[in-house]
Amino acid sequence: LRRLRSRLARSDSALSRGLLSLLQGGQLDEDTWDDVESTLLAADLGVEASASLVARLKERVAAEGVRDAATMRGWLLEDLYTELQPQMDRRIASSRVGGRPAVVMVVGVNGTGKTTTIGKLARVLVAEDRDVMLGAADTFRAAAADQLETWGARVGVPTVRSDRDGADPASVAYQAVREANEAEADVVLLDTAGRLHNKTDLMNELAKVKRVVEKQSPIDEVLLVLDATTGQNGMRQAEVFSEVVEVTGIVLTKLDGTAKGGIVVAVQKALGVPVKLVGLGEGPDDLAPFDPKAFAEALLG
Ligand code: GDP
Repeated sequence: LRRLRSRLARSDSALSRGLLSLLQGGQLDEDTWDDVESTLLAADLGVEASASLVARLKERVAAEGVRDAATMRGWLLEDLYTELQPQMDRRIASSRVGGRPAVVMVVGVNGTGKTTTIGKLARVLVAEDRDVMLGAADTFRAAAADQLETWGARVGVPTVRSDRDGADPASVAYQAVREANEAEADVVLLDTAGRLHNKTDLMNELAKVKRVVEKQSPIDEVLLVLDATTGQNGMRQAEVFSEVVEVTGIVLTKLDGTAKGGIVVAVQKALGVPVKLVGLGEGPDDLAPFDPKAFAEALLG
């Protein structure tokens, strides 16, 4: 929690500071409430959640006749925690099911942090004694497979890849699942391509990877990686991807150094899928399970 808080608070415009100064101010008039709402919007909580958080706070202030900033912050914290949907199941498929490895497909636009997330996740799973295998199904650039392989070597897990640029990503994914099967691995993590300049091609490719993998094994988890700093753009990406694959969890990266953590609320609401992991930096240990309570506290400091 301390690490999460210090990472989120690094930003100059941390949500908590803005809110506290508003709530501590003299007047609690309509202007103040509008400012509170704008502050929540600026943290990417989304229109719906921002409006309902302010409405509830206003109601409680009116009903209880309290206007002490610390009490209001406490109420906001409670409601924010509820908005984070703490009841959602955030476990990640990572153990063998029905005598075969769990298959985890990782999708998202290039640059959001897919490969890095796979490396960090592999490290977490290895620490939990899981036998992990990686599959480099982003075959468009050789560099992408190299990068994944480097992570694999770093955390001590094998990477299945093709030596050719432009090999068929679906066949690499298929091969990775097959080798994971033969090796009796616990879990195989599949990296996929995410060039968004041609949406139709990308989505066709992704659909094909899915189809081909499923000839051999069910896919247990599809993790969508979103860059927290991209705000509404990230939301649109999420919708596009979820049209093609059934996203089962979200990884929100680059939460370090941004005040935009509120995107968690917006994206969970829009997709009805839990945020399962958060990326807090570029290092191998900078990945954390998403903890709604710690997160609400870190956000409101
Ligand atoms: P991919 O194209 O989706 O596979 O993205 P990469 O894994 O190559 O990551 C793109 C860049 O984002 C790299 O420079 C990563 O080091 C960086 N990155 C990934 N995750 C995080 C994170 O949680 N925080 C920060 N600050 N940088 C990250």
